[in-house]
Amino acid sequence: MARRVLYGIPVAAGIAVGRAHFLDRDWFARASYHPIAPDAVEKEQDRLRQAFAAAALDLERVLAAVPEDLRDHAAMVEAHLLLVRDRKLQEQALAAIAAQKINAEWALERAVAAVEATFTAIEDEYLRSRMQDIRQAAERVLGVLVGQAGAASMTQRGVLLARDLSPADLVEIDFAKVLALATASGGKTSHVGILARSLQIPAVVGVEGLDGTLAGELIILDGFHGRVLVDPDEDELARSTELAARFDDYQAVVLRSCHLPAQTRDGFQVQTLANIELFEEVVAVRDLGAEGIGLYRTEYTYMNRETPPSEEELAEQYLDLASIMAPQKVVIRTLDVGADKLTSALSHRREANPALGLRAIRYCLRHREVFRTQLRAILRASVVGNVHLLLPMVSGIEELVEVKKFYREVQRELAAEGVPFREDMPFGIMMELPSAVMTADVLAQEVDFFSIGTNDLIQYTLGIDRTNKDVSALYQPLHPAIVRSIKWVVDSGHRAGIDVCVCGELAADPFCVPVLLGMRVDAISLNPRSIPSIKRLIRQTTMEECDALLKQVMASQSVMRSNRLVREMIYRHVPDELLFSVSLLGEEVGG
Ligand code: PEP
Ligand code: MG
Repeated sequence: MARRVLYGIPVAAGIAVGRAHFLDRDWFARASYHPIAPDAVEKEQDRLRQAFAAAALDLERVLAAVPEDLRDHAAMVEAHLLLVRDRKLQEQALAAIAAQKINAEWALERAVAAVEATFTAIEDEYLRSRMQDIRQAAERVLGVLVGQAGAASMTQRGVLLARDLSPADLVEIDFAKVLALATASGGKTSHVGILARSLQIPAVVGVEGLDGTLAGELIILDGFHGRVLVDPDEDELARSTELAARFDDYQAVVLRSCHLPAQTRDGFQVQTLANIELFEEVVAVRDLGAEGIGLYRTEYTYMNRETPPSEEELAEQYLDLASIMAPQKVVIRTLDVGADKLTSALSHRREANPALGLRAIRYCLRHREVFRTQLRAILRASVVGNVHLLLPMVSGIEELVEVKKFYREVQRELAAEGVPFREDMPFGIMMELPSAVMTADVLAQEVDFFSIGTNDLIQYTLGIDRTNKDVSALYQPLHPAIVRSIKWVVDSGHRAGIDVCVCGELAADPFCVPVLLGMRVDAISLNPRSIPSIKRLIRQTTMEECDALLKQVMASQSVMRSNRLVREMIYRHVPDELLFSVSLLGEEVGG
């Protein structure tokens, strides 16, 4: 293929060179219909049988390779294997080929759709949620039919390309083999980017022109500038090697000082905490200079498994986390499922506007048993270390009162059973909906701390889908509406005497951090890999400068002017940051 450059949104810093592996998860959407001649029926049926057999073999191989400690993962693969081996789906599709004289792909799609129709009519939510497994199992077969392999079949290290990757896909992927990743969809703060940053995998999302024709090509993935270079020439390869080496050196330098406090030159200190998605990340967190965990996104434990985790399993995990981090704090956020974070273990209805639907606390209030199990586990863990409880997506006082009522009910239950817990475990809420922001003064009276989720706050305030690349340029963290919202929340929290943390990606953005410092946030919580460079940046600034900057940014009526102001300030202090960090500001847009 001829040399070319594709552009997207840079979401995780770094640069890597490797062969492209294309993961196509959207086969059903594109399984096309074509009629076949009556004498081709038998051949088509054979093709389908062979695809089922190959998919079963593939799953057996995956199952054998699942490590001992990932038993839940193995259970999911086993379930898919059973479904692929099960004759019913295969027979339905074979019959459709014969009766309707259609190709194997379409016959399989028809068979799955027929099963889906029966499941949709069933009231039982658990049974209905099994549909997702059937679809995923059938996807394996369809993958064989269309000549594509799944992520698990990535046998060599390479650059992973996909149209889309769901958080569940990400958990399934063997990241040891992924040098870098790029997707055709996605926005500045979609979860694929967040996870890529945590795992230190260079990533670009929303790449224009990314498709299956790139499979097998040599690729340079430039996570600094959001570029995918296909079939690069010698010069480009040399330049990327040099940039990768400079990035390694830069990281080594910032890492050396990561245990120093995040204190400005004139003595203002901000607590620097880590956001984690996977329990396993906790090992690296301390080494990167985090002073605690400011956000544990617990929903990832519910992904890629048959049934939701039990209270025992959760309690054990949270207790481990609390004791590993003790005496530092661990903020456990209750389930934030829904929208783009769907899980196989929990049921989700199809929604027309999922980001505005049954997500996070709304899901938990509707599915009380799931919520109860998690709250019990968190309460049980509260006796160790320094555990904080955080609720996502709270929209206003009534909802908060309802949650608190339920929380007290769960506490009473545990007390009656004689199970110990810390009654005054700090209780906080995410500030990520405009309605919560506008009523921050009221909400502050009811909680022990605020944590500002800027990823969603920007999405909901500016009306921009955070996963949609087409509106990504409008995703502006320094929009006056966002700056004023954050300032109002910080001030409201402080007037009520509670701490305010910022845990969205904005807290990892070198250009935005001085503005947050000017607002006197008490803590920032960010992806662990960004902690060393953000701490270094804080140590090179003064509060006097941050105050002056904030004043100017607050007075600014334009995003472009605010972006220019913060860029100028960072240029003055730490020019390296510009080369090696990924910023949410992006290109300057508008007039
Ligand atoms: C946020 O919205 O800023 C946040 C931290 O939560 P999440 O990214 O998990 O939605
Ligand atoms: Mg959020």
